[in-house]
Amino acid sequence: TYSTVGFVGLGAMGRPMVEHLANKLPETTRIYVFDVVQAAIDQLCEKYPGRILKGSDAKDVAQKAEIIITMVPEGSHVRSVYLDSTHGICATDINGKLLIDCSTIDTATSLAVKDHIATRFATASFYDAPVSGGVVGAIDGTIAFFLGCHPTDANLARLTALLSLMGGKVIPCGGPSLGLAAKLSNNYLSGIIAIACSEAMDMGMRSGLDPRVLAQVFAAGTAQNTICDRFNPVPGVFAKAPSSNGYREGFKVQLMRKDFNLAVEMAKRVGSKNVLGGAGLETYTGAMNDPRCRDLDSRVVYRYLGGNEE
Ligand code: NAD
Repeated sequence: TYSTVGFVGLGAMGRPMVEHLANKLPETTRIYVFDVVQAAIDQLCEKYPGRILKGSDAKDVAQKAEIIITMVPEGSHVRSVYLDSTHGICATDINGKLLIDCSTIDTATSLAVKDHIATRFATASFYDAPVSGGVVGAIDGTIAFFLGCHPTDANLARLTALLSLMGGKVIPCGGPSLGLAAKLSNNYLSGIIAIACSEAMDMGMRSGLDPRVLAQVFAAGTAQNTICDRFNPVPGVFAKAPSSNGYREGFKVQLMRKDFNLAVEMAKRVGSKNVLGGAGLETYTGAMNDPRCRDLDSRVVYRYLGGNEE
């Protein structure tokens, strides 16, 4: 149990994650929050008076809390949240504290932050713990955490207990930055499948097949996969898929492009051959910049690739 928890980054994901903590941690636990957007802080503090308290910056949150979670967009934000010499988490004594970064960023930045902490604070522990499951999963409390730690890590039980309050599975991935390596590999695969599914649906439909029949065939055949089954990019195939709802309320195409780019960079760095990476990156970059697709669910690549939506 913890008497104090800190949370930095109260956006689409962070806000519902904090609400789960406020609803499930013992009433005596205080949650200190910070975001560069003041309104994001005020909304939460007003909703949970006395339980969620305002931090003046990331450093202040780190000073007050025993365990600190961060959920910001990109590597540059993670650097500034942790390393800023005036307002950052490392500007205060964080010895003995647990720090968990849930942002999806590159492994090199995460390792650099971890090294910086390890050299200055002998007893502070930093972990990467990116999530999967989207905004809906964050609200429902079903997101999965890919935790950058060894299965025998002394902190694993404590980390799992806390993360489980905000989600479902917590998978220890083996060591520092490997949660991120797992997350980026996952999103690379899911991004490639969405493009492949769009193309396969399109060629079948242009040949005369009904898209629902085609989806049944994939489900019964060797091509069976979750994207085709539950997130089919063709509108009307699966009623609950974002595509059947105008590609709204899914995983935004610009976030997929961000993660895909990070995955391709990682593949290059580790010497993975990655022949589909270039085509995928070009496709998601094009879709992200297409006004018919921007801000919509990433499976809108089907539209970008000229698929028929009738
Ligand atoms: P978001 O843009 O909605 O929220 C990010 C928040 O961080 C914003 O409120 C922003 O003001 C705040 N922020 C930025 N810089 C800050 C700083 N220096 N100090 C304090 N606060 C700062 O983004 P999101 O959708 O919540 O995503 C957060 C992370 O989770 C990203 O890395 C994203 O890739 C990942 N993720 C998102 C989804 C999704 O579906 N949205 C799913 C899985 C993972």
